[in-house]
Amino acid sequence: MDFNLSEELLGLQQSVRRLAQDKIKPRARDIDITGTYPQDMFDEFKKADLLGLCIPEEYGGSGAGIMGLTLTIEEVTKYSNVLGLMLLLTRLPTGPIMIAGTEEQKQRYLPGIAKGTQRAAFCLSEPGAGSDVAGMQSRVVEDPSASGGYVLNGTKCWISGGMQADWFVVFAKTGDPSSRLHTDIGAFIVDANSSGVTRPRVDRKMGVKGIDTTEIVFSDVKVAANQVIGGGFALIMQSLNAMRPIVAARGLGLAEGALMYATEYVKNRQAFGKTIAEFQGIQWEIAKCATEIEAARLLTYRAASLADEGHFTKEYVPYLSMCKYYASEVAVKASGLAVQLLGAAGYMEDHPVEMYYRDARQLTIVEGTSQVQLGLIGKGVLGHDLWWD
Ligand SMILES: Cc1cc2nc3c(=O)[nH]c(=O)nc-3n(C[C@H](O)[C@H](O)[C@H](O)COP(=O)(O)OP(=O)(O)OC[C@H]3O[C@@H](n4cnc5c(N)ncnc54)[C@H](O)[C@@H]3O)c2cc1C
Repeated sequence: MDFNLSEELLGLQQSVRRLAQDKIKPRARDIDITGTYPQDMFDEFKKADLLGLCIPEEYGGSGAGIMGLTLTIEEVTKYSNVLGLMLLLTRLPTGPIMIAGTEEQKQRYLPGIAKGTQRAAFCLSEPGAGSDVAGMQSRVVEDPSASGGYVLNGTKCWISGGMQADWFVVFAKTGDPSSRLHTDIGAFIVDANSSGVTRPRVDRKMGVKGIDTTEIVFSDVKVAANQVIGGGFALIMQSLNAMRPIVAARGLGLAEGALMYATEYVKNRQAFGKTIAEFQGIQWEIAKCATEIEAARLLTYRAASLADEGHFTKEYVPYLSMCKYYASEVAVKASGLAVQLLGAAGYMEDHPVEMYYRDARQLTIVEGTSQVQLGLIGKGVLGHDLWWD
């Protein structure tokens, strides 16, 4: 068992750490306050060649894999969760294509993401179907005017990066929308400028401001045969399973950033004639939080390593879901502790910890809530996918 990162990954970690300290740290609060899409930071990522980390070299990426992207997002989210999301969006919508797309689809859609000439979004959730994926009502019917083509109708909501996206991966029922058969769901690539695609609403949200979430309506949108990924419910789950360490990395980095900030603060803040860091009660809170961060880090790195080995099918679900569940809960806990350790100062916008706290709340909801992850882990134990005998 080797707990050390390769030379290559260590090099990546160090260079992103410098970028995060030099460029992201001074910019993060401004992005939160204005809520404006940080194109300048997208350009920085493009310049640093970080947009194609998880895309194989033959499609224009750097082939650093899910582990490379996980480490990068961990560094970035020490200061900005929204920029962690920006990087996450290089993998979320490309995942279904990498897993189940045709060679033509890979050649057509992956290089643009890696080069930063295109952006994409992942359209799964609907107003009436979030956790309950099989309850989606979007549907396709065969297009009589185009062999193998379909016509798509439906509404997707809370779609991250939906406003900036040049194309979407959209999931829809291929038969009766009331069917809960896993085989009655398909995945489709839809260009954002297709006739019938509208983005009528941008959400006002409590955190992760700067990358919008958007409602996207598909009205009689034609999907050509070469835009069909197929895949069914299994593709949704495999795509999301492979993403677990990447979402977890956002929680991990946020927790580290929050605890580091609060630790520096308590070393300077005076009360009762000493610094508050000298009180054992404060030290124990820091120690407990640091332990949980390290546990989250181990779960996350193991999951990233599994996902890079192609181990994101059902039997690996408990390990993958655990990292997302635990790291996002630790992010909420660590940022809550940071607010508390700063006292009134922590509640104010003069310090970033209240932003960390608002941003952390997103992580226990997206890409499978904490309750959904617990359900998956529980099923894994009951079914002996995770068993210690
Ligand atoms: C900022 C943000 C960005 C997002 N980006 C995207 C995106 O890019 N693409 C996309 O497709 N979606 C996106 N989403 C949507 C997200 O994936 C859903 O919000 C999530 O899947 C939960 O669905 P829901 O909100 O409908 O909650 P619901 O499913 O209505 O759940 C509500 C509550 O009930 C609990 N619950 C539900 N079912 C169970 C159960 N079986 N057992 C126990 N508890 C349960 C949940 O855990 C939750 O606490 C985003 C959401 C947010 C907040």
